[in-house]
Amino acid sequence: MKVFRRFMHNPLRNFNYLIGCEETKQAIVLDPLDGDAMLALAEEQGYSIRLIINTHEHHDHIEGNPVVKAATGAEIWAHENAVNRIPDVDRGLKPGDRIELGSLRLKVLHTPGHTPVHVCLLVEAEDNNGVPVLFSGDTLFNACAGNCRNGGNVDEMYDSFVSQLQPLPDETLLYPGHDYMKNNLAFAETREAGNAMISHWQKQVESFAPDDMPVMTLGQERTYNPFLRLHEPAIKHRLQEEFPALGLADPDVFRALRQLRDQW
Ligand SMILES: [Zn+2]
Repeated sequence: MKVFRRFMHNPLRNFNYLIGCEETKQAIVLDPLDGDAMLALAEEQGYSIRLIINTHEHHDHIEGNPVVKAATGAEIWAHENAVNRIPDVDRGLKPGDRIELGSLRLKVLHTPGHTPVHVCLLVEAEDNNGVPVLFSGDTLFNACAGNCRNGGNVDEMYDSFVSQLQPLPDETLLYPGHDYMKNNLAFAETREAGNAMISHWQKQVESFAPDDMPVMTLGQERTYNPFLRLHEPAIKHRLQEEFPALGLADPDVFRALRQLRDQW
C-alpha cells in the first residue's frame, strides 16, 4: 500500500488521500475535496482511481466526488446511512465491512460522534507488512478529537474513542482529515501545561508547512492528545480547579475537554 497525502490549501485545512495498491496500480480516493487535483495526482503517480470513499457527509469531504466519478467511473462508497446524505452513493458500508482493491484491505469502523454516519478506515498490520494504518476522517485529529457541532454527538464520540480507537495498537499510523496539529497542540498545552511531549512536538512542527507535517502514530498521540489521556491526573486536576462541580469519570472529562476546545 502506498499512501499519498495532499494538503488542500483551503481555509478548513483538509487533507485528501490517494491510497494505492503498488502491484495493480489501482487506487482509492478518500474524501476528495479538489477532484481535479486528485485526478492529476493519480495520473502523475501512475495510478488508476477505482473507488471513492467518503468518511462522512460534510461538504468538504465530498465536493470532489462528481469530478472524480465522471472522469474515472469510480463508485462512491460511504456509510449505509449516508446514502441519502451524499449524492450518488453506489454502496452503503456497514461496520466491519472489508474493502478490497488489488492487494489493499481496509476495514470499516463505524465511529459516530462528529456525525452519526462517520466511518474510519483501518488497515490491519497483517495486510500492510506489519504496519497498521488508520484513516480517521474527522473523528481523531493530531492532538484532538473532531468537533460535534454539525450534526454530531459528544457522547457518541466518546463511545467511538473507547470502543473503536482505544483498542488499536500504538504502532498504528494516523492519517486524519485535516491539518490542525499546531492549533491542537496549543490547546493541549492549556489543559496539561507540564507535559513535555506537548512542548517537544510544538517545537518539532512549528516551522513545518502543512504538506510536511509528520505522520504520527497512535502511540505518540497517546503521549499528548488530551482526548486519549482522560486518566491523566494533571488534566483532571486542572478541570476540577476550574469546574469544581464537574464529575471526573472518563465521559465527563471527554465532554468537558470537547466543550473547552469548542470555546477556545
Ligand atoms: Zn466534517
